[in-house]
Amino acid sequence: MPTAPPTVSLDQEINPWEAQHARFDFAARKLNLDEGLWKLLRTPARELTSHFPVTMDDGRMEVFTGYRVQHNIARGPAKGGIRYAPDVTLDEVRALAAWMTWKCAVVNLPFGGSKGGVVCDPKSMSRGELERMTRRYTAEIIDFIGPEKDVPAPDVGTNEQTMAWIMDTYSMHTGHTVTSVVTGKPLDVGGSRGRLEATGRGVSVVCEQSLRYLNISRDGCRVIIQGFGNVGSNSARLMMEQGYKIVGIAEKDGGLYNPAGIDIHQLLEYKFRNESILGFPHAEAMPSEELLVSDCEILIPAATENVITSRNAAKIKARIVVEGANGPTTAVADEILAEKRVFIVPDILANAGGVIASYFEWVQDRQGYFWKEAIVNEQLEVILRDSFEDVVRYAESHNVNNRIAAYMLAIDRVAFTIRQRGIYA
Ligand code: NAD
Repeated sequence: MPTAPPTVSLDQEINPWEAQHARFDFAARKLNLDEGLWKLLRTPARELTSHFPVTMDDGRMEVFTGYRVQHNIARGPAKGGIRYAPDVTLDEVRALAAWMTWKCAVVNLPFGGSKGGVVCDPKSMSRGELERMTRRYTAEIIDFIGPEKDVPAPDVGTNEQTMAWIMDTYSMHTGHTVTSVVTGKPLDVGGSRGRLEATGRGVSVVCEQSLRYLNISRDGCRVIIQGFGNVGSNSARLMMEQGYKIVGIAEKDGGLYNPAGIDIHQLLEYKFRNESILGFPHAEAMPSEELLVSDCEILIPAATENVITSRNAAKIKARIVVEGANGPTTAVADEILAEKRVFIVPDILANAGGVIASYFEWVQDRQGYFWKEAIVNEQLEVILRDSFEDVVRYAESHNVNNRIAAYMLAIDRVAFTIRQRGIYA
């Protein structure tokens, strides 16, 4: 098994599966993980690739490629989102599945890790095409998923509607309504109050914990957020309401900057009307790459992978980086940020609010009893505060950074469960 320190070539740097391996190997070595468990946890347990047909609106048949990867199910049913994007790859889905195993273990949920994806451009597809593609993809993975097996949720390019279609397709095959097969559903078909904004709420909780830990005052604390989708916009809104100054928002097609703070309610309204943040009159335009390296106390990458790399890490000015997205920082960039003593709240902790609320949704669906929003939010905050404490104490006592501490804690929990269960046959 690998024993040398992580050396990742530039080519490998932006491969999420390699990035996951680099951190996993480092943490496993620190834990003295035995060779068998190392091999087991380094590899996804099951991978499904399907090429399936969909009839497009013009009558043409198109063939799409979809994946579902289950990394590990030792601690419970696999849990993980489904991504619709043109650049989805099997390696990306593998990495996201492994991150789900570690994320669920860090926040101590009874779930394993999985992920799915379909190579497509959802923005260029009609509602009918998306529905037919979603239903056929569900039929392709139907033996893999189920409330006790593997429970999908939304991710980039998918939403509540996608989950409702998956739930309906699964239910039609089963012969009765099975709401707990997916989470992130609309409220009326078994969704949970608080789920939509849960990841953003979680991000705001770990920001608060970080400031407290580093003894930095929230007054005048400047925040820059990359991505103004589900995670970014909810983090921005909740944090502005809590008194942070959101000075920058970086989107795919350009960014906004206002040193006095951007009114996120106004920006949300503007985006709703214009389908873009560009041209918002109460902030100046600034290129997104520039915003990432601008002055602020907290930087929240909440868009996509590989945005903090060896190319820009040295220029980052934030004191704290809170990873709303999965895999925004490469392993090489980690080392550069560590030298600059940037405090990182790693993705598997920082964006766990979503899967925590998904867990609550799964529990509520199985009970047939639905909680008030205040209960969901309060329970989510308790779990995240405790998990933040677990990670920073682990980092202190093992003399490692927060990311490696989170991986070590997670790997240790999963390995412990596997040892207790033993190996079948
Ligand atoms: P989303 O599709 O709602 O939003 C993503 C936003 O980022 C979009 O507005 C998009 O235009 C923007 N974007 C994409 N590439 C960009 C770039 N290079 N620069 C700037 N902006 C860019 O997706 P989301 O659900 O908010 O997810 C964002 C990230 O958070 C992903 O990494 C996802 O895996 C992760 N995540 C999401 C959840 C959740 O509950 N939605 C939970 C955990 C983690």
